[in-house]
Amino acid sequence: MREISVREIEERIAEACGEIAVRYSPDLIKALQKGRTQETGFRSVTAMDILLQNAETAASQNIPICQDTGLVIVWLKIGSEVHFTDGLPSEAVNRGVARGYTECYLRASSVTDPLYERKNTKDNTPAVIYTEIVEGDQVEIEMMAKGFGSENKSALKMLTPADGEKGVKDFVLETIRNAGPNACPPFVVGVGIGGTFDSCAVNAKRALLRPVSESNSDPRYKKLEDDLLTEANQLGIGPLGFHGRTTALKVQVEYAPTHIAGLPVAVNMCCHVCRHARMVI
Ligand code: SF4
Repeated sequence: MREISVREIEERIAEACGEIAVRYSPDLIKALQKGRTQETGFRSVTAMDILLQNAETAASQNIPICQDTGLVIVWLKIGSEVHFTDGLPSEAVNRGVARGYTECYLRASSVTDPLYERKNTKDNTPAVIYTEIVEGDQVEIEMMAKGFGSENKSALKMLTPADGEKGVKDFVLETIRNAGPNACPPFVVGVGIGGTFDSCAVNAKRALLRPVSESNSDPRYKKLEDDLLTEANQLGIGPLGFHGRTTALKVQVEYAPTHIAGLPVAVNMCCHVCRHARMVI
């Protein structure tokens, strides 16, 4: 057994909240730069230039890339050989989020009751937390800070097996089209296929954690990702909705076994501010 103090989780999460709010990951910067080279129209070129300039200013001055600093989602992969000390990991995650958001002056965007009170919790807690027990004596933390302009444009559909690949593609592209300028393109699009109503949506979100420089390891799903990216960029929505060639930077697909009668598909839209981090303790 390896003893790990949950204080270490708290520290890492607090630090990561501040870091991902102000700095794009290098792969995302490269994708934006590539998108810039593909644009030719005045408005789309200007939009990409503004995004890149904004990224540089945010990183150099330590200010958030966007005013919507997101809702935090955390995945904890806990090794079966780990024994936590000093409390519960979920409480440590929320202490880390609270510290990160208050110490770095990030906007607190969480409300308590979603329907009747909608009181701001003031420190961006609680985070959405998923846990998984794996082999080993380490704890892997993956997290994202998800903006809701794009989250609100996400969608799920229970297709039938007969709908097949065409049905999946049609639904993904319809969701991207419906998102349009309101979800702050260029997008990273997370797609979950298979599983159940709920797990399919979680897989769509999880797909957003993968660096945009990486594709699905299954060649059939990689081709699906590439085809969807090409078709998404033919929609012409363009950077910030100013028309152009860069509607999406990447489509990321995750799949899971499902029931013989079903073909669930979830599309989790993410804007260009696709903030995520991975840490191992
Ligand atoms: S969707 Fe993204 S870019 Fe748009 S406001 Fe929210 S975090 Fe910012």
